[in-house]
Amino acid sequence: SPLVGVLALQGGVREHVHALEAAGARTTLVRRAAELDALDGLVLPGGESTTIDKLMRLYGIAEPLRAKIAEGFPVYGSCAGMILLAERITDPALDAAGEPQQTLGGLDIVVRRNAFGRQRESFETSLPFTGLQSLPSRDPAAHTENVHAVFIRAPWVEKVGSSVQVLAQVPAGDAAAGAESGAADSVARIVAVRSGKLLATSFHPEVTGERRIHELFIQMIRGDA
Ligand code: GLN
Repeated sequence: SPLVGVLALQGGVREHVHALEAAGARTTLVRRAAELDALDGLVLPGGESTTIDKLMRLYGIAEPLRAKIAEGFPVYGSCAGMILLAERITDPALDAAGEPQQTLGGLDIVVRRNAFGRQRESFETSLPFTGLQSLPSRDPAAHTENVHAVFIRAPWVEKVGSSVQVLAQVPAGDAAAGAESGAADSVARIVAVRSGKLLATSFHPEVTGERRIHELFIQMIRGDA
């Protein structure tokens, strides 16, 4: 089975380890550039993208990882991890010196941080998700399957490039994603995307026992999806 690293500098590391193992991967925690070479793929967990960015640069892992991503290394980012894979952030945080946060890039998307947070910090909803039909356990005829999604100060994808496939959106009018007043957003918001060997979700499948997103990532690593 593939060896999948979980970047363990900050954030929700353990939940991804459990989800990956339940989905059939071997796992290892990653903090240093030298640890990348043994891996078949890497998960960038949720947490705080500004902190993970800083630590990746401090530990000297950002540049080697960027180079590997450019060569087609499979990476799955959830929440903060999605932000780290994005080519551009609409509203990057500035550090004390006024330097904007950086991303690894690789995924041709523009993300807005804490996007749903303007309405509501966290919410859960059920979303139709595309692209799971290639998993061994799934119905090959099913075009979408509903996935239970937990959003915690989540980004959304504001723009996608032509290479990017949209896998899930929070539909317009989803009351769960709406304001505490109950007013829902009037447009659909993209929350899961894929491009080549890169996968990203705004939400956290790893906290609910949801395994299909990690199974999809493992299929991508194997070249079966
Ligand atoms: N808001 C966080 C960030 O910008 C992401 C939150 C999360 O990963 N749950 O990094």
